[in-house]
Order: sequence, then structure tokens, then C-alpha cells
Amino acid sequence: MNLEAIFNEYKEKSIQGRYITLDSIEQLILQNSEVSSSVIGKSVLGKSIYQLKMGSGPTKILMWSQMHGNESTTTKALFDFINFLTESPIGIQLQKQFSFCMLPMLNPDGAALYTRENANLIDLNRDAQDLSQPESKVLRKTFDDFQPDYCYNLHDQRTIYGTQGFYQPASVSFLAPSYNTACEINEVRSKAISVIVAMNNVLQNYIPNQVGRFDDSFNINCVGDTFQNLNVPTILIEAGHFPNDYEREITRKFVFIGMVAGFQFLESTANNLNNIEEYLQIPQNCVCFYDVVYKNVAINYDNKNIIANIAIQYKEEVIDSKFSLTAYIEAIGNLEGYFGHIEHDAKMDNYSDHLDNIPQISQKADFFIGKSLKIVNGLIKM
Ligand SMILES: [Zn+2]
Repeated sequence: MNLEAIFNEYKEKSIQGRYITLDSIEQLILQNSEVSSSVIGKSVLGKSIYQLKMGSGPTKILMWSQMHGNESTTTKALFDFINFLTESPIGIQLQKQFSFCMLPMLNPDGAALYTRENANLIDLNRDAQDLSQPESKVLRKTFDDFQPDYCYNLHDQRTIYGTQGFYQPASVSFLAPSYNTACEINEVRSKAISVIVAMNNVLQNYIPNQVGRFDDSFNINCVGDTFQNLNVPTILIEAGHFPNDYEREITRKFVFIGMVAGFQFLESTANNLNNIEEYLQIPQNCVCFYDVVYKNVAINYDNKNIIANIAIQYKEEVIDSKFSLTAYIEAIGNLEGYFGHIEHDAKMDNYSDHLDNIPQISQKADFFIGKSLKIVNGLIKM
């Protein structure tokens, strides 16, 4: 099955880029007559938290996205998936096996502010026990009322992550969160693992070696760990970086493909497969990338040239309602074990800038290499 073609057919074209707010999706929700929508709570600043329901099957699936306000890729993928579920023959068939309950934007205040936290500056994914925030209470109440068979916890991860051993960008990462400090695998967790293995097997056809496995240290304050601990198989999906795709329009496709593959697996097999080994073979996420690396740059310290690599990281922010990337120097040194999504070999040409000709951490990445290369906002200006 060509899932790329299916994605292109059902992609929700009205939403794109990184800055996805409640305004971006509200009309979409209200206009879709195939989906039963309701407001199930309000955020700190009084914005609506929507619940979408579809399907009438026996297996209950709870999915939530944008609990971290600036993590919007999976929200886009969720709306692509909703189109697929309600319009495609395969999707309509899936609705007979599953009942879906989706909270596409759990943190609408953070989405508007483009912050990870909610309006009270609380990370909702550390509030699973305290339930101190209205958004956390909404999610927990939905979990308690709906009594899902599986949970999907949908996030974005930073561009710094790659796949251990392959050192490719981790374009999608998965985790079956732990339910105890020993990180043991019980029947509940192994059910989540089976879905992840199925998703990974399909994704390998599209992004070989670009799927990672997130660290499984147990933290009961995280929602996924809590739900797994409450005996509901829970799957974490992290949308990550694909080369040059800072808008995450390509990653969005891979999240969609993963979702479809996972539900087709769950539809086709009632039995839990024993494939923990396969899960553990998915390379671990490692912090091994910068956005841009200039290699072999000659830096003149006290009339002595030192050859070093200069790593640049973008600050991702919303300015005047537009997503923007501002490049800063993040590290200087030999940076062994690190890679750049974009790399350029300076071949020992000299560093210079408009300041004192010595690069500093946290300085804006505007400088020169040699006599001819001008670097503006991290990139070579042509
Ligand atoms: Zn997150």
C-alpha cells in the first residue's frame, strides 16, 4: 500500500507550518459533520478544549496532541488522519473496529503563546499526579470516563536528536513509557511495544534508520508513564526533524503513515505479539545534532590560529504571528560525535565578524569565513 499517496490525498491543506493555534483548527472542527465534537473544558485563559469522537468499534483509542503548545506537527497529522478516517474506504473500515476520542489541542494557551508550558508556566507533562492545571484535569477526566484500550500521546522533539549508531536525524521517535522505576515490560507495556514495532516496520520503508526509540526512564509525573501505570497501553509519538523541513510538513506525513500502520496492525491482530527484541533493536534517540556545523574553521586567539568546529542552533520562535528561526552559535570545539543537519567544511579559512573576530557562545550566527563566505543567520549567503 502506498501510504505516501494516501497521505497526499487526505492531507488537511488548510493547516500548515509550525504555528498552529486554536484559531487554526476551530473552524475545521466545527465544519466537519463526520466528527462529533464538543468542548469538554477550558484552559487557564478560558480557551476551549475540544474533544472529537468518531468510530463505533469495540477498541477504544484516546489520542491527544499539543499538550505542549509549541508542538504542533502531530496536530496536523491528526487532522490528516481524521480526513483519512472519515473519507477513505480503509478509514471508514477502521471506524468499525475502533472508537476514537481525540483532544487535538490540549494546551490552546501554550499554542497561542508558542510555549511548551500552559499559561501558568506549568509543563502539563509533569502534572499527571498533581493535576494542578485545568488542562491536566480535562485529560485525566477524559481518560477516566472513556476508559481507553490504547492511548496515543503526541509530541514534537527538537532537532538535536539523531538515531544512535546510524547518526541520522530522528525524524520520528517512539516510546512505550515505563510503568515502574525498574522499567520492566509487562503485558500492558508489551501491547504498546507491539504497535510501535508495527509502525516502525512500515516507516523503515520511507525513512530507513531515521526512527528512534526515546529514553524510557520512569517518571510518574509524566502522563504516559501514569497511564501505562494505570494499565492502559500508551504510545508516545515524537515528530522530529527531517532535513530542511523546519516547517515539519514532511515529518507530518511520516507521523500520519505511522498512525495508519499502527491501526492497521491493531485491526489485523487480536493477539499481542512477543516482539520486545524488535522494539529494542530500534536505535535509541541520542543527542548528536546541531542545526548547522562549520567544520575546520581557523580562529585567531592571541595571534595563534586554532582549528575548530562551530555549531549553530536555531532558536525557534513566533514573532508577529509568524514562525521564525534565529541562528545562534551554540558550541565551539572539536565537537566529536556531533553532526550538523547542514555541514560546511571551511578548510581552515579564517573566522571573522563585526565584533572582535572571536566567536562566542550565544552570539548571533552572523560572521565571515575566509574572504568570500558571508554567513547570515547561520547560513552561507549566496
Ligand atoms: Zn512534548
